[in-house]
Amino acid sequence: MKKLSLTLLAASLAACATPQPQVATTPVPAPATAAPTTALVPLERDVHSYARPNEARVTHVALDLATDFAAKTLTGTATLTVARAPNAREIVLDTKGLEILGVTDGGGAPLRHATGAGDPILGAPLTVQLPTTSDRVVIRYRTSPDAGALQWLTPAQTAGKQHPYLFSQGQAILTRTWIPTQDSPGIRQTYEARVTVPAELRAVMSAEQLTPDGEPAAGGRAFRFRLDQAIPPYLIAIAVGDIAFRPLGPRSGVYAEPSVVDSAAREFVDVERMIDAAESLYGPYRWGRYDILVLPPSFPFGGMENPRLTFATPTILAGDRSLVSLIAHELAHSWSGNLVTNATWSDFWLNEGFTTYIENRIMEALYGRDIAVMLQQLERTELESEIAGFGTDTGETVLHIDLAGRDPDEGMTNIAYDKGSAFLRMLEHAVGRERFDTYLRSYFDRHAFQPITTSQFLADMKANLLGGDEARYAALQVNRWVFGAGLPSNAPVPASDRFARVEAQARAFVRGTPPARLDTTGWVTQEWQHFIGSLPDTMTLRQMGDLDQQFRFTQSGNSEVLFAWLRKAIASRYAPAMPALERFLTTQGRRKFLVPLYQDLMKADWGRQVARRIYATARPLYHPVSTGSIDQIVK
Ligand SMILES: [Zn+2]
Repeated sequence: MKKLSLTLLAASLAACATPQPQVATTPVPAPATAAPTTALVPLERDVHSYARPNEARVTHVALDLATDFAAKTLTGTATLTVARAPNAREIVLDTKGLEILGVTDGGGAPLRHATGAGDPILGAPLTVQLPTTSDRVVIRYRTSPDAGALQWLTPAQTAGKQHPYLFSQGQAILTRTWIPTQDSPGIRQTYEARVTVPAELRAVMSAEQLTPDGEPAAGGRAFRFRLDQAIPPYLIAIAVGDIAFRPLGPRSGVYAEPSVVDSAAREFVDVERMIDAAESLYGPYRWGRYDILVLPPSFPFGGMENPRLTFATPTILAGDRSLVSLIAHELAHSWSGNLVTNATWSDFWLNEGFTTYIENRIMEALYGRDIAVMLQQLERTELESEIAGFGTDTGETVLHIDLAGRDPDEGMTNIAYDKGSAFLRMLEHAVGRERFDTYLRSYFDRHAFQPITTSQFLADMKANLLGGDEARYAALQVNRWVFGAGLPSNAPVPASDRFARVEAQARAFVRGTPPARLDTTGWVTQEWQHFIGSLPDTMTLRQMGDLDQQFRFTQSGNSEVLFAWLRKAIASRYAPAMPALERFLTTQGRRKFLVPLYQDLMKADWGRQVARRIYATARPLYHPVSTGSIDQIVK
């Protein structure tokens, strides 16, 4: 990044100053001493934030919030520490649906402030006059019951059915629906919090727990937290519920509802080894503890890499540890994403492509090359179907995606993940693994705790991996990979021998070999997934019944295997699987599973009726992230 001189910075600030807020409060007393100013490292413009961080920037957030499960609100204060450039007079924050109850400086003197016009995607800017004598801005506020980041579950929506539950999901631009701050991934902030919850519940956050058991407080129990590493605000996260804990290793453990916590602890027994493997590849784990919170079934994602505390779906609890690549993924974000962070949402592939690549390296280190190559091939199949779905005449398959005027969630497709990781694997093959590993490790060290843009990464890679060799850079088709559609010709093709044998068995079945005579000895989850995926799109009821009788797919407790099977069942209108389909759609809320199943159902008349009936019952169970997608499908 080019650094602006202070003079230039001041000139550009004057040029882009906005009108003064219109709401006046009481006059501010004359300053005793002036608030300090700082030379701010210039940040890239983020089209998904109102913040003007080159003028004034939030560096620390201190929350004091009370939960109200009946009203579905958080109420309290956010005290922001602000760094400012010389001449800065105001700070612009992001908010969405927040009720602002008052704004003062650190000493309680009111500050002039105004909320600007709202936008359905971005929310509304909150412009606050900066205090003249201190660097603190205190905002008293209340969240809206339909805050996009917060899901308030009724007891019926939890595993235990006794207590309500709250969890947050900040990525991409939802933190502004529960915290008034500068909600841009480039603006890193440390945070602390005090959260008051009903006495029988526990609060956890993506931070160090200062009071693991809570302390008595008016209205219940209070929990205090602190995170000293500066993070992008989308990683500030909270969950409140009936939550138990089991240790996994010296620096790792699992949180979940009491009825789930023991099976979760058995499933994640390899976590400590995963951390060791990642550290030996990419350098020290810099966040202290690594814990996993298993959420109630309505959590819309596989996992969310909140620092120190990965949030995970219970659908990975297969009972046989076969779906733990998701944990490898979230752990990998401790380097790619949380340590070195996409500067804007157009750079999202830097978070997810790197993480998908590293996830696979961790899986290889723990479980061997066979498993890693099978996972790569599943990834590649998904990528090809995603590219086919979008077509290569749109910008949707470009890594550095244009998201201006759009909700950044629309850019969170498999392209960022799987095309991104294929790009890095191509680089690994081109320069050799040893050199690529050395480069990646140095990349994380050089950019630790900083945002990074796509062009910064490409310049860094050209200089430090390719030794500035322009011809080599061009020959690797880097610009096509990053700024072009589709998959370039030098994309590596993963070829798993074990999958080749699986495909042979699928062909044998189609030719008439009875399922009992297929050779499935020693197959793991990924082989079963691939077997089902290799079968014809639609099959006869006889074929479906024969397979089901032999392999009991309809009864599978493995969410990935069941999901693959249910897609075949819908395509073949295989009635015996319909109760299992209904159960799967009404007992978990993971968008990755829900969207394709509802899409499949909507392709036929009979399916549309089933989809509408199930969705009418299931919709209240789902998270807004999932219903936002499914509302477009089930009509
Ligand atoms: Zn990820």
